[in-house]
Amino acid sequence: MSVAASHSENTAAPSERAPLTAATSLDEARGIDLHLHSRASDGRLTPSELVDLCHAKGLSHIALTDHDTLAGVAEAGERCAHHGMRLLCASELSCQWRGMTIHIVALLPQGPNAAFTASLEGLAEARVRRAEEIARRLQKLGLDDALARARAIAGSERPLGRPDFAQALVDAGLAADRQAAFKRYLGAGKRGDVKTHWPALETVVGWIVEAGGVAVVAHPLRYGMTRRKRDLLFEAFIGAGGQAAELVSGYQNRDTTFDLARQLAHHELYGSLGSDFHFPGGALAPGTLSPAPRSHVRPVWAHPALADFVAPR
Ligand code: AMP
Ligand code: MN
Ligand code: MN
Ligand code: MN
Repeated sequence: MSVAASHSENTAAPSERAPLTAATSLDEARGIDLHLHSRASDGRLTPSELVDLCHAKGLSHIALTDHDTLAGVAEAGERCAHHGMRLLCASELSCQWRGMTIHIVALLPQGPNAAFTASLEGLAEARVRRAEEIARRLQKLGLDDALARARAIAGSERPLGRPDFAQALVDAGLAADRQAAFKRYLGAGKRGDVKTHWPALETVVGWIVEAGGVAVVAHPLRYGMTRRKRDLLFEAFIGAGGQAAELVSGYQNRDTTFDLARQLAHHELYGSLGSDFHFPGGALAPGTLSPAPRSHVRPVWAHPALADFVAPR
């Protein structure tokens, strides 16, 4: 199926779609996007602007998944209520496994417990320490005042992320664009890729499960792993109490997605869907997803913990 065809399917007006229920299969799901970013982390829109855009795209069920923070969730929740949409309290958590940075989406239908909130504060501190270390390394590579430059780009409100350093490198003429900055300085294995500050995968999954939430491996095809390595990741994740993985993240190759569905079914993981939208004007919009194949993978919204999320109002 072409990108254009899948796009129009996903943006059909709400009235043309069957309402999402726990019984809706992954391949029939419309109006849902469980991976979205706002200005509370490295997205460009305010939470309200993001929800308005999701509404305009015909979405009814969404999760705001800003990196290592729940700061945008309250505002997004108010805006969703205004539109009659459902919002899951959520965040995309950074962790490490076998020397790699892995992202785990925390879906928290009961909201955060006290321990989870405290853990997020720990992640915020880890992010501060990491930014200082990235700045030190970039300074050695020729970017003066790296920390101040990144802070000027991010503004005073939100924690620093690698995209801020990427922009600083572009502005200083050290990279042609942000993509090039990641390729040369900030991407996996490069000098500016500092991951020793993130907690272990098992730790982060534990926080989510103990808060009554569902842990989801984000974009499993984007870590440059072999299928066998992904099996090991899923085994470690499940051993720690993890329950789901994203079957579709934005645009994916059809055959690869089909194979990932087989892998999720084999591990009995629930499947989630999300665009990983960050800003308008790029290839992706909220709800833009390659189609999920027919498979035996149960949708994450069929998980008992998410029953209220898809219950008719
Ligand atoms: P951080 O959470 O600070 O480590 O930043 C990770 C974020 O950087 C990801 O969520 C993406 O939004 C962005 N990112 C990662 N890799 C790339 C890349 N190759 N090109 C552009 N942006 C990237
Ligand atoms: Mn991001
Ligand atoms: Mn991610
Ligand atoms: Mn993301």
